[in-house]
Amino acid sequence: MATDTIFTKIVRREIPADIIYEDDLVLAFRDIAPQAPVHILVIPKKPIPKLADASPEDGELLGHLLLIIKQIAAEEKLDNGYRVVVNNGADGGQTVDHLHFHILGGRYLQWPPG
Ligand code: 5GP
Repeated sequence: MATDTIFTKIVRREIPADIIYEDDLVLAFRDIAPQAPVHILVIPKKPIPKLADASPEDGELLGHLLLIIKQIAAEEKLDNGYRVVVNNGADGGQTVDHLHFHILGGRYLQWPPG
């Protein structure tokens, strides 16, 4: 069951965000607490709480999100590489219950994460 989150409020322009991309299905904005020189969140406007809640009917939307991520990374000139992260649930470190993809880049990123 989807609930209202800070991200749905950003979609509805009820709270401000540094929005860098929007279409009918997707919104992308800069993370308020960046963990890298480039840290962008890409979300579906549809309030899917987490990846585990996505259904087969969301397949086209999820594919679209990945192609938008690729486009944004190119526009941000992350030519030397970048990381795309989806935190899912408590052990995944998810803090906002609206599916989101982190794009992190602009520096070397260690692996594995903590
Ligand atoms: P999670 O930990 O759920 O994967 O990531 C949530 C992300 O949302 C965090 O990186 C956090 O900094 C970011 N965030 C939380 N609240 C806001 C907000 O109000 N505005 C923006 N732009 N980012 C936020």
